[in-house]
Amino acid sequence: MLQDVLKNSKKVVVKIGSNTLSRPDGTLNRDFFKDLAGQIHLLREEGRQVIIVSSGARIAGVSTLGKWNRKEDLHYKQALCSIGQVELMDSYRKELKEYAVVIGQILLTKEDFTDPNRTLNIRNTIFTLLDEGVIPIINENDTVSVDEIKIGDNDNLAALTANLWNADLLLIMSDIDGVYDKDPSKSPDAKLLEVIQDSSKLISRIEVGNKGSFGTGGITTKIEAAIKVNEYGIPMILANGKKEHIVSNLLKGTAKGTVFLP
Ligand code: ADP
Repeated sequence: MLQDVLKNSKKVVVKIGSNTLSRPDGTLNRDFFKDLAGQIHLLREEGRQVIIVSSGARIAGVSTLGKWNRKEDLHYKQALCSIGQVELMDSYRKELKEYAVVIGQILLTKEDFTDPNRTLNIRNTIFTLLDEGVIPIINENDTVSVDEIKIGDNDNLAALTANLWNADLLLIMSDIDGVYDKDPSKSPDAKLLEVIQDSSKLISRIEVGNKGSFGTGGITTKIEAAIKVNEYGIPMILANGKKEHIVSNLLKGTAKGTVFLP
């Protein structure tokens, strides 16, 4: 099922989580970016268009500066994101350049999805970039977003993007194979749920555990994202981006994940 959904999707939003692109010590994982570039290239070579939604600005900021990792002050957090966003984009730029792919950065806020004029402008920019073979890389604009007005997590941002673009698929790459019935970090017997037919009822059926050390939303926001895109008739796949060649293995059917069907 998952394999067919991925194979048949022409417009794919790929979301990358903070834990996925970093090492346990909080530095950016260069090997991950290298492998991801190859996987994105593979998707495009088979005729797909790809938009990336990437987290990780804050962790990239800490990784670059080597300090401020414990600062909880909002302005320090925003300053870290401002430093890290450049580093993050540079990592994507360097690796995708190997495949002669150019990237374009788009920083968005919650308001951008509610104001029709802004929405139209975003859509036009995205379409222009994609028509010219450029990969848009989207993140929340942390400099202007304080908690009260934030989308807050990139799972929901990726879902809004998928709906705005009318994507065929939202592919969320996290540090876990998919959704489990129990918290996999605590229950060794937790079972991977491979196909979800009714995402809106899922949260009451599973045990929600803690998120990873650099994660923001945990499994809850991934399920929220699934509900959002499923409502628009778009499927979502949750897979383990920490595993090498994940996209090609999902396409071959040798890797597992969770597919949320609309
Ligand atoms: P990301 O950085 O990719 O957004 P998060 O750390 O926010 O990732 O969320 C993924 C984490 O959610 C996993 O590492 C996992 O430990 C945790 N988690 C908690 N409960 C579950 C569950 N029932 N199924 C899958 N993962 C779960």
